[in-house]
Amino acid sequence: MQTDVPEAIETKVRSLSGVLLRLTFVITLSLGLAAAIATIWVDLKREKDAVENLAYDFMQSAAPSAAAAAYNFDDEAAKQVANGLFLKRAIIAISIINDGEVMVAQQRQVDPTLPQFLGIGARDEIELSQQLFEPGEASDSPPIGELSIKVDKSLVAPEIVARLFTFFVVTTAKNAAFGLILFWAVFHVLTRHISALTRSIQMWQPGSDRVQIPTVPGILRDTEVASLGEHVSELTELANGALNRVRRSHDHVVGNNQVLSERVKDRTLELERANRRLRRMADHDALTGLFNRASFDRLLAERFTACQHSADEVAVLLIDVDHFKPFNDFYGHQAGDAALVRLAELLRDIQNETGCIMTRYGGEEFVCILRAEPGTPEVLAARVHAALETAPIEHQHSTVARRITVSIGIASTAEKEAFTNADMLVSAADDALYEAKHAGRNCTVSSSAEIRQRAHENRLSVKALLDATDAKEFEPFGQPQVDARTGALIGVEALVRWIKPDGTIVPPGQFLPIAERSGLITQIDTIVLEKLSAFLAQYPDALPSLSINVSGESLASEGYLDRILELARASQTRITVELLETAFIDRPDELLLWQLETLRDAGVAVEIDDFGTGRTSILGLMAISPDRLKVARELILPLGKREGQTKLVTSVIDIAASLEMNVLAEGVETEEIARLLIDIGCPIQQGYLHGKPMPLEDLLQSLGPSPRKFQA
Ligand code: C2E
Ligand code: CA
Repeated sequence: MQTDVPEAIETKVRSLSGVLLRLTFVITLSLGLAAAIATIWVDLKREKDAVENLAYDFMQSAAPSAAAAAYNFDDEAAKQVANGLFLKRAIIAISIINDGEVMVAQQRQVDPTLPQFLGIGARDEIELSQQLFEPGEASDSPPIGELSIKVDKSLVAPEIVARLFTFFVVTTAKNAAFGLILFWAVFHVLTRHISALTRSIQMWQPGSDRVQIPTVPGILRDTEVASLGEHVSELTELANGALNRVRRSHDHVVGNNQVLSERVKDRTLELERANRRLRRMADHDALTGLFNRASFDRLLAERFTACQHSADEVAVLLIDVDHFKPFNDFYGHQAGDAALVRLAELLRDIQNETGCIMTRYGGEEFVCILRAEPGTPEVLAARVHAALETAPIEHQHSTVARRITVSIGIASTAEKEAFTNADMLVSAADDALYEAKHAGRNCTVSSSAEIRQRAHENRLSVKALLDATDAKEFEPFGQPQVDARTGALIGVEALVRWIKPDGTIVPPGQFLPIAERSGLITQIDTIVLEKLSAFLAQYPDALPSLSINVSGESLASEGYLDRILELARASQTRITVELLETAFIDRPDELLLWQLETLRDAGVAVEIDDFGTGRTSILGLMAISPDRLKVARELILPLGKREGQTKLVTSVIDIAASLEMNVLAEGVETEEIARLLIDIGCPIQQGYLHGKPMPLEDLLQSLGPSPRKFQA
């Protein structure tokens, strides 16, 4: 077996060499052929270009004779020119045009000179032309005719074809002969020795000594064999050296592995630390450092689930900063943020002392989670109020409070209400917080079944109001304003009504507070405006003046002011806006003053509602400088019933007079009051005596024959 191996190798080497050499032969021959064809192709291209150039030169040299023949209308001479040109084999067609007319048009058939083989000899035609000028005239003068020839570039001279053919045959023969010699020499001489060498190398084993290289008589000389032996031995040593190095580096790698694993451990620790930092950042609110909303949700869900499987109870306290929006608006967000940070510090102190969890729920809202035993949430809430009293966060410039206060809503699973999930608990705390806000703020309210019922009803009302807004179920009613001395109608106040689909008329007192809280007031005001516009479009001059109640929120909303301006421009009726919120008249800001200025410029009058209830500041009033004040019906109604009331109303009317503003008395229900008001200088009146709020169409109907006179 052992001895068969080299023989098998030799056979393999021989057959492999045979295959390789045959392949080499074919490749050499093909490359030679390709090179020959490429050379011929390039040569041919050059020859074809030469044919074209020669034909062109020939045509140019014939041009003067052609021009003379054309100039003299000499057809014979023209034919001679053509015959002369046909001496060039490659020219296959000639035409001479004289003044647009054909003098000569000849073409001929010429046998191809190139072999018709692989498209080499295919016709390669080109048309050349030369303009003909009057003899003696320059080439920029108008041409008198044209000499054109058609050249077949494939008609190269036969000598050239013969030369190219010879070149091809000789080159191919040369390549074939060279390939054959190579084949013989390499296969029969070299292969033998390659086999012998292969056998020796085959016997060599890594780690063995030098290799014995067989001498190859006639081909390799002894010295060459010796040097080959040297090379192979060097290679052996190199291989042995490499083997040792591999062994050494293996040991090294094992050592390094230990260092590496230490480093990996360090990096892992570092990563874990970074991860913890990241988690902390993700869990905490960036401003206050307390747990954030996401953490609150997670922590509460955990506590809630734990409570369901134990006797423990959990409570949440929703802590909301009172009047935070005006604080923020007035002092700016930075001051707002600083106040929240201070509050968070107080809450954190309480957290550290009691073990509850304080979190920032969002904006100015904080939530506390604590284990609830009866009474503990209320005690904790009291601690929060007390902390804000002992370490007050200043709120000096506010008209509503000197320091920051909070309202707190509490809900606890100890209440034995069926809170099936944590969200319900938070929602119950939210309802309680809402009650706390309505109870005057700076107080705590704990959730109860009654509160939740109210909140539920409130949500239903909001939903109903939302649907009513979508269906535009709001209609402006009108209440007349008259000059009580004459009964003349001087204006109408638009008062909104919700007309339910079943015909029920809901007064604004029952739905506007909900609309204000749920942010629907602007939409309702806009619907009222739309309907008033439609009414005025139909009855442009039926009313002397129309007053519209405008909430601060609507005025601040986008587009509302423009709608009023549009209404004022489009109608002949004078438009008046009644500003409702005394709070925003207290400190009129730049925007409000600009809006009022814009309204006045458009001819819209401005009135202040509910004047005299003591809430409107005189300074604010002077800044706004309204066209008229409406004396509140709360002041008018008790006239004649309460002692001193006449004096009070008189002084209110005097204040208006001293501010040089007109007045209108609201809520005039009786003749006596109407007369009394006339006596004390307030003849312009509005009230049930003069007319109740009614649909605008009905109001138009009740206007007497004189349209400006209202018949109550
Ligand atoms: P207001 O602007 O002070 O409107 C006058 C209110 O007094 C009206 O109540 C009117 O019906 C009532 N009233 C008129 N004469 C008498 C009277 O002789 N005696 C008594 N006791 N009351 C009288 P209404 O229509 O219920 O409106 C209530 C409030 O709703 C209005 O008070 C106004 O602040 C607000 N409001 C009405 N319409 C709109 C509106 O379209 N948009 C907005 N934002 N608020 C509106
Ligand atoms: Ca009003």
